[in-house]
Amino acid sequence: MGLTPAHAERGHALLGASKASQWINCPPSARAQEGIPDTRSEFANEGTAAHELSELILRSRLLGEMLDEAIAAFKRTSPYYNAEMEAAVAAYVEVVEERFMAAKARSADAAILFEAWLDFSAWVPEGFGTGDVVLIADGVMEVIDLKYGKGVPVSAIDNPQIRLYGLGAWSDYSYLYDIREVHGTIVQPRLDSVSTEALPIGELLQWAETVVKPAAVLAHAGKGDFAAGDHCRWCKIKGSCRARADANMAALAYEFRDPVTLSLEEIGSILHVAEQLSAWAKDVSDYAFTATKAGQQVPGWKLVEGRSDRKITDKNQAIQLFSEAGLVPEKYLKPPEILGIGKLESSIGKKELVEILGGLIVKPPGKPALVPETDKRPELNSVEGDFEGEDF
Ligand code: SF4
Repeated sequence: MGLTPAHAERGHALLGASKASQWINCPPSARAQEGIPDTRSEFANEGTAAHELSELILRSRLLGEMLDEAIAAFKRTSPYYNAEMEAAVAAYVEVVEERFMAAKARSADAAILFEAWLDFSAWVPEGFGTGDVVLIADGVMEVIDLKYGKGVPVSAIDNPQIRLYGLGAWSDYSYLYDIREVHGTIVQPRLDSVSTEALPIGELLQWAETVVKPAAVLAHAGKGDFAAGDHCRWCKIKGSCRARADANMAALAYEFRDPVTLSLEEIGSILHVAEQLSAWAKDVSDYAFTATKAGQQVPGWKLVEGRSDRKITDKNQAIQLFSEAGLVPEKYLKPPEILGIGKLESSIGKKELVEILGGLIVKPPGKPALVPETDKRPELNSVEGDFEGEDF
């Protein structure tokens, strides 16, 4: 079996699964972004490369395909391949292998598919997606998605993208298999995160009928109400969207009560609004910057040259000149430093690092941080004495 089409060539439908949280929560956002070109970032290219390498390794290890040369060629030629990618892909491959072994333990004829075309057009007009891995065994179907990014944590719980993949996989394969449960798994190896949502097929279909279908009809027609929220993060018009501006300006119109100083209750509310406003302010500023750079005028604003630091153009020549000037190296060279633990793990390997350094690696308690109560970390005891000696 040949490899699937290049990962970067995955199609983008109007109502794609990766944008589902947008068009489900804000149906007209799909048409509002139509025609705006995708700006492919280096991060996206890096993610595509990680998917390509993962697929090669998984096909080689789980299907016995002769891909050693292709893997070696990838590692030799990809500008994105490095020790961090090697470690992250290995962690992802390990999860898929474990899940496949568990599936085989449940049923000897467990099936595994890579880069499966998933069609959920029964609920979403022209709805399709591509599942990195689909496993089917003993009434359970599992869709596994690799997220190579590490900027934003992504969980499989309540995640419409992975649910739509599950729906597509069920729709495509339920005529061959009796599937009772659909599992959606997201592996984000660079954040050490693996999350799975398991839904009985009835529950998934109910969500599809009551939530997805009505939103998709509105979104496809460009109808419905604009509604701002967390889903605006990846919207192409997030910097110029009026609905988002209105929502944020309304959040600003907070009515403060007397007396002169704010109550802690009020401060708690303001912190939530401030987080939302600061993300929005950055998006509006990026939008204005891009428009101005393209020659448009934003009244009251102009482009200027930013600050820059002096730099040495030729470091080798500078070292030679310092040496010829009779300076001792301590005067102009930094002493060598041990890399940070993350970089050491990438360059040496996680297990190897622990074997070599063992007890020299400790994790001191982190500095107290104020976060919303929805954050998953357990609450610290806030008695002041507990923080004595902390330097903050
Ligand atoms: S920025 Fe938010 S509110 Fe505006 S169209 Fe996009 S998703 Fe909808």
